[in-house]
Amino acid sequence: MIQHNDYTDLLKNNQLWAAEKLKTDPEYFDELAKPQKPRFLFIGCSDSRIPLDLITESEPGEIFVHRNIANQVNFTDLNLLSIIEYAIEILNIGDIIVLGHYKCGGVKAAVDGLDTEDIVENWVSPISDLYHFHRRELEELGDKTKMLDRLSEMNVIAQLKNLLRTPIIQRAFRSNKKIYFHGWIFDINTGLIKDLPLPLQEWKGYDLLPDDY
Ligand SMILES: [Zn+2]
Repeated sequence: MIQHNDYTDLLKNNQLWAAEKLKTDPEYFDELAKPQKPRFLFIGCSDSRIPLDLITESEPGEIFVHRNIANQVNFTDLNLLSIIEYAIEILNIGDIIVLGHYKCGGVKAAVDGLDTEDIVENWVSPISDLYHFHRRELEELGDKTKMLDRLSEMNVIAQLKNLLRTPIIQRAFRSNKKIYFHGWIFDINTGLIKDLPLPLQEWKGYDLLPDDY
């Protein structure tokens, strides 16, 4: 499965890729060098098994990206908040995707704990809270894998709700910007993305979404 053992392989591949692109389209990089106009903001897990460009067959320039362990929307994360602000106010992105995945190490760490990696444990502590809050429902699934998969889905929904609670998003709604939210799960077992149903009525009830969403 692992095809490249040496970092120099990556650099060689890059040269081949650039040459191939030029061969099929001599203006490819002139186009790419123009200011970016991505349509989508993607917030996903850092896991190496989810190369978004490949699994969605999207091209450079199409997706503005933020990734962190277990796709968290954390109110103290200046990096993420800057990205959301830039995406909405400068790039005018209208679709935001939070993508989690099954077999997520961050979700597992939130449930099982880690021995020494206490910074990671701290980072995923909102998922531990989610787990404890829904513990009965999750344990009724009767199977650890199913339970972790379901928790991964719940985590995506919870992070979308956090996103709606940010002042940046609420300000965008007040100025009547149309922004659409998507909660996706990548199933590593099949290679397919599941588009999760979102609790829109509940969010409207909390005044997190405009009535005409
Ligand atoms: Zn993950």
